Amino acid sequence: MTKEELAEGRDRLTGLIGADAACAQIAGWQAEAAQAGETPSVHAMLLGLRRFEAVNLAFGKTAGDRALTEVASRLLHFAKDEMEGDWLVARIAGGTFLLAGNEACSRERWQWLADELAQAVAIPIPGSGAGAGGTVRLWPRVSLLRAMPGERPERMLDRLAATLDRAQQEQGRRLLWVDGEVSLPGRTSRQLEADLLAALDREEIEILFQPQYDCVDGHIVGAEALARWQHPELGRIGAGALFAIAERADHVGPLSRHIASAALAAAARWPEHLRLSLNVTAADLGTGKFADSIMREVTSAGFPPERLTLEITEQLLVTELDRSARRLQKLVDIGIRIALDDFGAGFSNFRYLKALPLHYLKLDRSMVDGIAESSRDLAVLRGILAMASALDLEVIAEGVESDEQRKVVTREGCTVWQGFLGSPPLSAEEFAALAG
Ligand code: C2E
Ligand code: CA
Ligand code: CA
Repeated sequence: MTKEELAEGRDRLTGLIGADAACAQIAGWQAEAAQAGETPSVHAMLLGLRRFEAVNLAFGKTAGDRALTEVASRLLHFAKDEMEGDWLVARIAGGTFLLAGNEACSRERWQWLADELAQAVAIPIPGSGAGAGGTVRLWPRVSLLRAMPGERPERMLDRLAATLDRAQQEQGRRLLWVDGEVSLPGRTSRQLEADLLAALDREEIEILFQPQYDCVDGHIVGAEALARWQHPELGRIGAGALFAIAERADHVGPLSRHIASAALAAAARWPEHLRLSLNVTAADLGTGKFADSIMREVTSAGFPPERLTLEITEQLLVTELDRSARRLQKLVDIGIRIALDDFGAGFSNFRYLKALPLHYLKLDRSMVDGIAESSRDLAVLRGILAMASALDLEVIAEGVESDEQRKVVTREGCTVWQGFLGSPPLSAEEFAALAG
């Protein structure tokens, strides 16, 4: 635990704040709103891992700890992707976590977020089981509330905890509202999946473009395409949830094709020096038609393949690496470049580096976070850059939020950076205006 974490009372295992700090932060939102003469809009949910003790008993404490760390990281990812205003994630007790937000949010949206979060947490955690790398599966229950005017955070927590207790005792009840309204009309997963098909037709899926900058001269060198779904009732759905829904409905293929063709069509109108980066999921790469499908999209958009980068992540099955490498090589042969995305976020399995035809390593933002302050973080960055240079790979720094970080990644030899310091993801029009 770092000194700051100790001072903030962070949890040693997950790095999350605890109940006291969470209450203080919520009280802060309320005070801020009161000062501005506004009504705060606090929403909270408490997620409990049902029968978590059983995991410790069955798999051992180390596996239990690993599962808790994974749950904390899923919660943080989810919140970063889906929450719009202020938010916080805290660990309240053993297997109980709090997510709170301060943003105008309909009841239906809050319930949808809770449902989506519960599904994300329920995805099996591979390799966390005892000895032989068994898999732990958790069964979360969630209680939800929208704070009453003037309600104290401690009282919110009490009401959430009492409701969570009830939810954990009732069979088959994943979500429970504190005010007792049991099941809202809320959208079922099946409805959402149907909505997604319609959305693909109705152009509700928007593609944003986040600029990427040359480290040395500061010019824009291209953009990464990032998808969003503007759902008519639930509001903005981030890329993480969007792909999770698509996966459940078996629609990843059509969704990816839709995004690729829309992004390529926009990029075909950009000045000729700009590159486009597209994210590719493991599911895309796992199909035999992958290379042909990308080639077809590139040709029909009239976009030069030498200006396209595909970003792939380590979620690929290691057993699929050879086959994936062959598919990617077909694309490399026509000039497309490949980036290994989120490098440093997961297990950084070096087999990927050996097996795949790569041009770039794209550092995860957790690798960039501490480099301006921590010598250890800097040492890790230097190690990665030395390895990249030996492998003849360029390194792209992602999630650059401060000028300090930009200076360090430039000094250490990254070639391109991307992050909120430069720009958030922009609409196609905004990006064209900025880069044109
Ligand atoms: P990613 O590929 O790592 O994309 C970068 C994410 O970091 C984006 O979130 C971006 O908005 C965010 N980001 C950019 N700069 C900063 C920064 O300075 N600070 C912080 N804190 N965040 C920053 P987004 O758009 O929500 O995307 C989340 C993930 O969803 C992406 O992570 C990617 O894995 C996936 N994704 C997004 N769009 C697509 C898509 O069209 N296709 C596929 N297959 N996956 C997508
Ligand atoms: Ca990416
Ligand atoms: Ca990334």
